Amino acid sequence: MPPTTSQTILVVEDEASIASFVSLYLKNAGYAVETAANGAEALQRLGAATPALIILDLMLPDVDGVELCRRVRQRWDVPILMLTARDEDVDKIIGLEVGADDYMTKPFNPRELVARVKSILRRATPERRERESDVLRHGELAVDAGRREVRVGDDEVQLAPKEFDLLWELLDHKGLVLTRDQLLERVWGYTFAGDTRTVDVHVRQLRRKLGDASPIVTVWGVGYKVAPSRDAVNA
Ligand code: CA
Repeated sequence: MPPTTSQTILVVEDEASIASFVSLYLKNAGYAVETAANGAEALQRLGAATPALIILDLMLPDVDGVELCRRVRQRWDVPILMLTARDEDVDKIIGLEVGADDYMTKPFNPRELVARVKSILRRATPERRERESDVLRHGELAVDAGRREVRVGDDEVQLAPKEFDLLWELLDHKGLVLTRDQLLERVWGYTFAGDTRTVDVHVRQLRRKLGDASPIVTVWGVGYKVAPSRDAVNA
């Protein structure tokens, strides 16, 4: 189903063949597409008009994609899907506070790319802010949906967007086991069985950042859950 009004996707990719086939598939799905072959051009285009989403290659001739992602994040609230040639870069992209919403490893299926673009855009719409006054607590941990703020005691913890969403989803279903596929569907919006390693990488990062305050329990062979805490305080 094509979007009703044409949303613009900015494709930042120096390999012309990849840029053109990605553009083709996006246009066929009903999106308007702009391309930039390097970081400077990407920033120039962003200065002129903010797209609905950016597809950003990690390896650009003039600037590291991670650095560009960071710079974009400082100024624009626009979803970013990163492209990478290597699987090892995944931790770098989604683990650090880079702020990419999703990633794909080359070579990728262009149909899957379009599916992910749709799902990111769906999740970026205002309805997700409907519960903006909610604060979920678990022991020392407090997660504020409206401010998208996470605190352990008085200390704020910086989470990447999907780390936040994953933590929220688990806390919101306290006591229930969620499978990796369920989490992929709820947090990333995939309606097909996707790359469940993404979930594990995010859980690992959450545990690293939250330390002892992490409420996430691994349910071996099934998925993850948040155990009801002994000293939970309800908001
Ligand atoms: Ca490249």
